[in-house]
Amino acid sequence: MTRYRKLKWLSLILAGLFVAVALASTQYDFYLFSQSGMVGFYGGCIMVIAGRPSANASLPPIWSFRRARNAILWHPKVIPAGSFSPGTGTIVLVPLWIPTLVALAAAWFFHRKTRVSIAGHCKKCGYNLAGNTSGVCPECGTKA
Ligand SMILES: [Zn+2]
Repeated sequence: MTRYRKLKWLSLILAGLFVAVALASTQYDFYLFSQSGMVGFYGGCIMVIAGRPSANASLPPIWSFRRARNAILWHPKVIPAGSFSPGTGTIVLVPLWIPTLVALAAAWFFHRKTRVSIAGHCKKCGYNLAGNTSGVCPECGTKA
């Protein structure tokens, strides 16, 4: 099943991308703005602000990229935007290790799917069923 192999590599690439973005976000800020909020990368996190980032920002830029030394934030955080800048709304910080772990778990899941599709092996656990006459996997009890 090449589909699972592709999904496995896609998940691994995504995990690598998350790690790269997390590392980059400790050296740079990147933000995309819209009228209703912004999304960006900051201190190893995806940062989302729902609402106005600043009361003064009547015409926010569409995007911003600047050099900034940001300490890594390891815990998810939800804070009112007013404590960060004069504005209303909510800031949500999600550390990128969380989606990285999800992507790695997906890669592992798809890796197992590719492994167990080998002919002559149990579909569920991958046990070698060569010479098996019962039609049931002796390892996990799945019908061969
Ligand atoms: Zn089995």
